[in-house]
Amino acid sequence: MTMGGASQTLPMPASAAISLPMSDFPTGELIQLEPLVARVLAPNPSPYTFTGTQTHLVGTTDLAIIDPGPDDPRHLGALTAAIAGRPVTAILVTHTHRDHSPLARALQAATGAPIVGCAPLALDDLGPRADAAFDRNYAPDRILGDGAQVAGAGWTLTAIPTPGHTSNHLAFALEDTKALFPGDTVMGWSTTVVSPPDGDMADYLASLAKLMLRDDRVYYPAHGEAIATPRRFVRSLIGHRKQREGQILRLLARGVGEIPAMVEQMYVGLDPRLVPAAQGSVLAHLVDLERRGRVRQEGGAWTAI
Ligand SMILES: [Zn+2]
Repeated sequence: MTMGGASQTLPMPASAAISLPMSDFPTGELIQLEPLVARVLAPNPSPYTFTGTQTHLVGTTDLAIIDPGPDDPRHLGALTAAIAGRPVTAILVTHTHRDHSPLARALQAATGAPIVGCAPLALDDLGPRADAAFDRNYAPDRILGDGAQVAGAGWTLTAIPTPGHTSNHLAFALEDTKALFPGDTVMGWSTTVVSPPDGDMADYLASLAKLMLRDDRVYYPAHGEAIATPRRFVRSLIGHRKQREGQILRLLARGVGEIPAMVEQMYVGLDPRLVPAAQGSVLAHLVDLERRGRVRQEGGAWTAI
């Protein structure tokens, strides 16, 4: 997210979009996706979050709760009803945007479950990486490294680092049914915003390449519909980013080197509320190209080398 508590998304190219009946997204209701997986939609729709953040429940007799969502008592009530008195083994967090992690604290108070998952942003070490979109109060009981697991009755979740959308992003794999919870790394309605300084396009593309090597059966993203053809979907996302990079290089070749002008030409008809996010994504591409020695910046304008 770059602005006021939203998640970071931009419209996908038509070829990659899928149809999404809004009736499939009732706020606050428990939707069973498969025997081990259910979801509850939080009441935080926006141009950045689509219908809102989807909190996933994994397990039957004891539960993992993935991405508790925004700090909203209505969502806490909906989750408490969905949990229905069952023990919560762990509250897992993919990343610390404010539409994903803040309710962890209230849910922990209500259930006694540990908060496990991504690392907090190391603000003191890394400088001003975090903007208003980040949850600065996130305090996990346990940080999951690459391959670390959390298990309950009949389920095991494995942490997979997927930086790019944020530097601390994790996906969680449900090994038992080959389902993956990609958080905001892959979304079922739009492309993910990758906005510097914390967002990193090279890391993001490396995370997508890592996902391409897996044989997950289905993705359950935090925003949008489930993705039934994960590898094909991720391949289209990689293609989309390559296409954007090509557009940027062509604009630079024509002497269009200032980000606002580039966004105007690249994102025709964009919702004005999403312009800052689009500018962030273009900057992420430019930073990546600069590191690869393809472009340079002088006085706010970018040029191809
Ligand atoms: Zn996010």
